[in-house]
Parts: sequence; structure tokens; C-alpha cells
Amino acid sequence: MMTQTFRTHTPEETHEVGEEIGRQLQSGDVVALIGDLGVGKTCLTQGIARGVGLDPDQVVNSPSYILINEYAGRTPIYHIDLYRLQRLEEIVDLGLEEYLEGDGICVIEWADRMEKLLPENYIQIRMAGEDEFTRTIEVRAVGSR
Ligand code: ADP
Ligand code: MG
Repeated sequence: MMTQTFRTHTPEETHEVGEEIGRQLQSGDVVALIGDLGVGKTCLTQGIARGVGLDPDQVVNSPSYILINEYAGRTPIYHIDLYRLQRLEEIVDLGLEEYLEGDGICVIEWADRMEKLLPENYIQIRMAGEDEFTRTIEVRAVGSR
């Protein structure tokens, strides 16, 4: 399975990596973000949203308290954050199927918490912090795409 690895040293560089990923996303894609708190998942999502064609003046916030934010890019973007949900049953209760199976692009923070609920094909992105500013971003396709 092909994995592409990036290393960034500033939030701006992480935005750029996200933007590059976002440009390649297609309608219906699911992006599963995995990595600790503060590693840069929301920062990467901001870049992804830009790459999907979101207006530069539209701010992508962490949806930690809302769970799902919707943005209008060239295709809708659903930004989902499972930080506050620990148990699989709580996630099942959200009824995310309509988002996952719809034509929008889903970007999910803490996606490892719903691994069993992810579709057959998705883009997995693992982020890790090496020091205060250095981040590794591993992108791989799970499934056939
Ligand atoms: P998460 O969503 O994973 O909890 P955030 O994107 O909200 O993380 O926050 C990442 C934090 O790390 C921000 O405070 C950001 O300024 C900082 N940071 C430092 N270096 C980087 C980097 N290379 N890429 C992304 N964020 C970085
Ligand atoms: Mg976040």
C-alpha cells in the first residue's frame, strides 16, 4: 500500500500540505485523521478545505463542541470531530452514515475512534509531533482507491 509522508515545521507548511491533499479530493471522499491533541489535525483540515475550494475568508474552526461543521467548497465539506466521544455507541448514535455515504467530502478528526464504521475505501492520515514545531503527516489510501 502506498504511503506518502510529509514533514512540516510550521502551521503554514501544514496548511500547504492540506491544500495539496484537498485539491486531489473528489466528491464522496472520506478523510480519516489520526493523531494526538494539538498535533495539527484542525490545521491540516483548514488547508484541505482551501484545496477543496473554500473561500479564503471562511474560517475553519475546530468543531469539538459542535461535532459537525459544514462548509461549501467545490463540493460540501463535512468536518467531524470525535474528540468528545469516547465510546463507539455514542458515535453510532450520531448517525454519520448519511454524511459518509453522501456526495460531500468528510474530514474526520479522531477517526480511529470509529474505525469499524469507516467505509471500505478512505484516505487515512496519521499525524505525529516530533518536537514543538515538527510534524510528520502520513497519507495512505485504505481500500482500492
Ligand atoms: P489538533 O486539531 O490535532 O488538536 P490543532 O490543529 O488544533 O491540533 O493545533 C495544532 C497546534 O500546533 C497549533 O497551536 C499550531 O500552531 C501548532 N503547531 C506548531 N507547529 C505546527 C506544524 N508544523 N503544523 C501544524 N501545527 C503546528
Ligand atoms: Mg482539532
